[in-house]
Amino acid sequence: MFGIYDLDGGNVVPSIYYGLTSLQHRGQESCGLAVSDTRGERGNVKFHKDLGLVSEVLRQDVVRKYSGDIGIGHVRYSTTGASVAENAQPLVLSYVKGTLALAHNGNLVNTPELKWELIQNGAIFHTTTDSEVIAFHIARERVHSKTVEEAVLKTAKKIKGAYGLVVMSPRKLIAVRDPYGLKPLCLGKRGNAYVIASESCALTSVSAEFIRDIEPGEILTITKDGLKSNKELASAAAKRAHCVFEYIYFARLDSTIDGVKVYDARIRGGKSLAKSYPVEADLVTGVPESGLPAAKGYSEASGIPFAFAFYKNSYIGRTFIKPTQEERESSVHLKLSVLESVVKDKRIVLVDDSIVRGTTIANLIHMLKEAGAKEVHVRISSPPFLHPCYFGTDVPSNDQLIAASHSTEEICKMIGADSLGYMQTDYLEGMAGGLPLCKACFDGNYPMEIPDYTNAEFADIVKC
Ligand code: AMP
Repeated sequence: MFGIYDLDGGNVVPSIYYGLTSLQHRGQESCGLAVSDTRGERGNVKFHKDLGLVSEVLRQDVVRKYSGDIGIGHVRYSTTGASVAENAQPLVLSYVKGTLALAHNGNLVNTPELKWELIQNGAIFHTTTDSEVIAFHIARERVHSKTVEEAVLKTAKKIKGAYGLVVMSPRKLIAVRDPYGLKPLCLGKRGNAYVIASESCALTSVSAEFIRDIEPGEILTITKDGLKSNKELASAAAKRAHCVFEYIYFARLDSTIDGVKVYDARIRGGKSLAKSYPVEADLVTGVPESGLPAAKGYSEASGIPFAFAFYKNSYIGRTFIKPTQEERESSVHLKLSVLESVVKDKRIVLVDDSIVRGTTIANLIHMLKEAGAKEVHVRISSPPFLHPCYFGTDVPSNDQLIAASHSTEEICKMIGADSLGYMQTDYLEGMAGGLPLCKACFDGNYPMEIPDYTNAEFADIVKC
């Protein structure tokens, strides 16, 4: 998510484009922007969104038609609702108070209940996302509230789960972070323009200075008069639980989240692997891109030289999200090829950030061995994936999670490795600089209760 309000009235559209481009790693399915002029009419929000990458959807000839001094943008990676154009964000609603635009990162766990409340009052949904449910609740609350931020607060008290929100009303930009701080969100400033972004790398891309993270449970409202912070939700919160997967895989290497540099966390992860699972080898390499920093950490701590063993074709999209196993396998080959002269006759430590189904690592080990590698010792800078994520990380169901049904020894054999070591769950906090974490995908301890709607009266609503 990205949001910007230039109090000097400058056009924010180019900044939204650059900000979203630097957040592209967070979602590649669809994207869009909504922009308005705070000096114009209250319903003057214009928006453009579609399936595709930022460079495809927000083409120069398209965005040139848009301008305004306040705007938000979004790149989508779906976990709730299909990957179709209707589900692209920002969502823009016209209602009695003007226009409301919303971008959401995360996943709610009580959507059926929230949807039921709206459906009973005649609501008709245009999307299948939980984000639309949030937007409708804000719009409904707004009718009985003095300000939009009050409506956002009332809504935030009802929604449960992981959410970062960037909301734009005709004259305000509002940033919200769930009380657990599951998803990252930060604030920056460039001259007289305030910027909100999912990650600090997006601030850098628009030359904005990082000011601070939005606090868990904080609602930050930006108006022409400056900033106003409400922390009522934070004081009601039980505990903080930052998503550990941001540090392992999701966030960009040059981002800093909640005071912890993602790069440093990944280096620490690699170092811990070297201590827990030492092995005699000739070189350490990482799976590009996400395994490279941990490989460097492993190399530093073990003294085994680091080498690039793969060439990565940067023009191929993510392989993980391809729908069939066949497609996932062939795209690993399209994306990565082995540098034979580097690996021939070598004993190799191969580091990656995670094993989910085992597709990527099995293919890479096979490719390394075909290219003449003598031994391949796999080190993974996260623990085995054992549990579903309800908060917005796409983890396949248990039957596809290789670690849910196989021991480490079995996985080692299945992927064709000479040895396999996973990061220990106890070390995750150390890796993430001592932050309180949500690591439920590894240990099954969810920071909040996950309602079960499968047999309840809500079953039909879950589908619609
Ligand atoms: P797999 O091939 O199914 O074992 O997936 C593991 C690979 O996918 C690793 O190289 C990770 O970098 C990447 N990965 C892991 N989790 C995710 C996720 N939730 N979304 C996208 N990519 C992921």
